[in-house]
Amino acid sequence: MASGKKYKGEPAKKQERAGAGAPSSSERVRDSAERMTNRGAERSRKNTSGSLALIATPIGNSADISLRALDTLRKAELIFCEDTRQTQKLLMMHGITGKKLVAAHQHNEAAAAKKILEEINAGKTIAYASDAGLPLISDPGETIMQVMIEEGVNVTSIPGANAALTALQLSGLPPLPFYFAGFLPPKTKARKDALKLLHSIPATLVFYEAPHRLAETLADMLAVLGNRHAAYARELTKMHEEVQRGTLSELSKHTEKQERIRGECVICIAPPDAETAQHDDADEIDKLLLSALQTLSPRDAAFDVAAKTGQQRRALYQRILELKSNTR
Ligand code: SAM
Repeated sequence: MASGKKYKGEPAKKQERAGAGAPSSSERVRDSAERMTNRGAERSRKNTSGSLALIATPIGNSADISLRALDTLRKAELIFCEDTRQTQKLLMMHGITGKKLVAAHQHNEAAAAKKILEEINAGKTIAYASDAGLPLISDPGETIMQVMIEEGVNVTSIPGANAALTALQLSGLPPLPFYFAGFLPPKTKARKDALKLLHSIPATLVFYEAPHRLAETLADMLAVLGNRHAAYARELTKMHEEVQRGTLSELSKHTEKQERIRGECVICIAPPDAETAQHDDADEIDKLLLSALQTLSPRDAAFDVAAKTGQQRRALYQRILELKSNTR
């Protein structure tokens, strides 16, 4: 059974969930590019000395923070962060005191972005940190970033730890190309639907997952993607760091046997082999055609599926005729 429980690290509304009705990445890129062109890109940098730095923070081991990140936090006049308690702890650990922290999380990000802008226009140097790893990457920061771009504010990133790339390095799977899908939906039906959309992507797939959903997610991955090679990484950079490698079937059995899995996880899955991908594509297209034919004429069904898949309309129409003659 899928658990609908919300996991602490899992964004409630963020749009990176694969196939959860969110705009596609190309739509988002296009929207963002339009906004930049229309309102911001041609605008020169505002005449203030204020600036914003996105700070990468540790994903488990508090020593994994760069000298530049610490220096930037030390010099920042104001620190916006996902959780003030979490960032305060990090600052204390590194002897940084007397800083004003302001919350900027997924529930107040638009208002926080406005505040950041006001402070920058008043000449302040601002830092932004999420709870762990890189801001924006399955974490808040996207709205802030968009507002800064629209307003022509200079933003820099202080790079550092990231769970997805660390897991990919350790997975033993082809590192390139990879496709980072973030969190899948928490419920089985939506999760399987999202996985179907990723089925034929010729890249290593990388997902974030909560420990209490690891077993059921691996089982859904096995059901939808087939028995591919995979790996999951748990507790990266921490004392009990663990990487399990095997087929999805082996990993699924392994996690089912465990009473309770602790710690945050990243799942990496090998790309489909070329033959499977081709075969799966054809199967998938047949399914789309048959479903379209339930409500549309053959001509319109070919149009519809061509628009969805980028396949040639004429070839799809031909395939419809074949499918029809097979069912006679
Ligand atoms: N911004 C972060 C980054 O750059 O990696 C990701 C934040 S996201 C809210 C939290 C998810 O990242 C967790 O649920 C888990 O899937 C993954 N994660 C974070 N830290 C991890 C760790 N130490 N080991 C394994 N996975 C981790």
